[in-house]
Amino acid sequence: MNKILGFSIMGMMALTACTNVETETAEQPWIVDRFDDIKVIRYEVPGFEDLTLQEKEYVYYLAEAAKCGRDILFDQNFKYNLAVRRTLESIYTASEVREGDEFKAFEKYLKKVWFANGIHHHYSNDKFKPEFTEAWFRDQLAAYINDENRQIEDDFLCQIIFDETLYASRLNQKEGVDVITESANNYYEGVNQAEVEAFYNGMAAADANNPEPISYGLNSKLVKENGKIVEKVWKVGGMYTEALEQIVYWLEKAAAVAAPAQKEVVEALIKYYKSGDLKDFDDYSVLWVKDTDCNVDFVNGFIENYGDPLGRKSSWESVVNFRDVEACKRTEIMAANAQWFEDNAPINPAYRKEEVKGVSAKVITVAMLGGDCYPATAIGINLPNADWIRKEHGSKSVTIDNITYAYDKAAQGNGFAEEFVLREEDRERAKKYGKLGDDLHTDLHECLGHGSGQLAPGTKGDELRTYSSTLEEARADLFALYYLGDEKLVEIGLIPTLDVAWSQYSDYIMNGYMTQLSRIELGKDVEESHMRNRKLIAEWCYEKGKADNVIELVKQDGKTYVVVNDFVKLRALFGELLREVQRIKSEGDYDACKELIETYAVKINPELHAEVIARNTALNIEPYGGFVNPEYELVTNEAGEVVDVKISYPANYVEQHLEYGKNYSFLPTLN
Ligand code: ZN
Repeated sequence: MNKILGFSIMGMMALTACTNVETETAEQPWIVDRFDDIKVIRYEVPGFEDLTLQEKEYVYYLAEAAKCGRDILFDQNFKYNLAVRRTLESIYTASEVREGDEFKAFEKYLKKVWFANGIHHHYSNDKFKPEFTEAWFRDQLAAYINDENRQIEDDFLCQIIFDETLYASRLNQKEGVDVITESANNYYEGVNQAEVEAFYNGMAAADANNPEPISYGLNSKLVKENGKIVEKVWKVGGMYTEALEQIVYWLEKAAAVAAPAQKEVVEALIKYYKSGDLKDFDDYSVLWVKDTDCNVDFVNGFIENYGDPLGRKSSWESVVNFRDVEACKRTEIMAANAQWFEDNAPINPAYRKEEVKGVSAKVITVAMLGGDCYPATAIGINLPNADWIRKEHGSKSVTIDNITYAYDKAAQGNGFAEEFVLREEDRERAKKYGKLGDDLHTDLHECLGHGSGQLAPGTKGDELRTYSSTLEEARADLFALYYLGDEKLVEIGLIPTLDVAWSQYSDYIMNGYMTQLSRIELGKDVEESHMRNRKLIAEWCYEKGKADNVIELVKQDGKTYVVVNDFVKLRALFGELLREVQRIKSEGDYDACKELIETYAVKINPELHAEVIARNTALNIEPYGGFVNPEYELVTNEAGEVVDVKISYPANYVEQHLEYGKNYSFLPTLN
């Protein structure tokens, strides 16, 4: 539940691109590809050369493991994704004619499929609409697909790609629909929402008195077989075994070169992949969260549940990283003051944690992204997700500096601030303090926000159902926003002046109220939980601060601008909303949660929406960004011993995906 994506001015700039397609290579060496609503950025890995040989080798093996789970995510996202991807790749690589509108549209579609790890948009979850014709595509099938490379039957494949009503959404969470049968993800098959809820409620009830409750359902597909509902567990020897065996192979290599504490962690992960036992996963997570001293660290597994409308099934992902020593000084100060933040949170004292444990926050440099973190990635991570582990053992929180840096570089000169920020003083403040404000927001959100607070006795934590992710993100954001404007931050040396906070406040409100809407198709509601959370906060504060004109909508030359007039009052509103959001979480108050989110976070004002899209389109800015990975190569001597690991930075999106498809694709077409 705990990933933070790019946001606010710098974040939005980050998620956007330069304005001039023709000169992008000359002016924008950071952007390697642009298509549809996407730009692909390269990132650098500063400091890799300074790692010890043992650490470099460790990174190398973990990076290999990170690449091996890619097919799992494709399959999780939609049952026929691998069939589609493999067919498209076969046509793409064999095709002799590489010109013409149809081919270009086909290439764009394939790039989008790679980016989204499937045929549904990675953010909106809607199925892509191909811009090439079915007739043209059938010609390609006839020319390049034969009995050897045919994945599924041609007619069905065409239906999947061209029939707009079939598998229309990967994740449908609309009120009143059966979120299981109406979502095209591959986490469930042959079961409906009521059956799924009954199945897992039964399991949870049997486990009700366990102080270490199991995250039931996290690593399996739920299916009906011969009238019986059963879990197909993702493990070695179970579903996805072909990919998991490869992951385990590389993890074993990693364990062999790991320092003792890390060796124990890697071996615990291997044990879990082999058993599929979620108790083993918890054991691994506890070891992982306790290992705070390591320089090189990683995430590898079934981690985040955003893709499951019921928030149980987790998608496979991996991030390999190492510590950014200089930037870590920032988060160390935060961690050292964690108890102060908790004790002074503007919430009901009963819902504060008496003792904040194990706040480990660091700034990291990413060395490899895999699965659900590639190509689109978060800029911060806070894990593990199991509430009881967070409570008993704490959590690890990271912000990813080389990724935000790359976003920042890729956004330079895109004209965004000039278009959407009305006041010169706000633009100046953002220029000066925007990046620091963004970084600190992310740190506070991840390091303290998610970890703060506690549930009331008797509250289990699953009461908020489909609204829980949005509420949780709002809670972490509000915690960050509230404290960013606290004098305490100046006192402990995190910010030179409260202007850093005010810069973040302006950006956040503008983005939540207005500019983030450019990422949503006209006529659609806000679905994604981070976006919902930001809209909730911005609109709630606008409403509640109306009498005092705290936030103002200024109309000028037919354009709407969102301006914050009173930062101190806005901060008080953040505190007020945090109190209520924490109460809802602590008490599991579903009705209040639903009311709050449905009122402020979902429905979009159609005129404002159209305006934002038009202004954004005029800037020629892509709303989404993702990355190409670096490559690593073992250097050996004549005796075959590893003497170094070389890093290089390929700058070709298409080649990287074709290479991954060739060398890291282990699953059968249907699983
Ligand atoms: Zn979060």
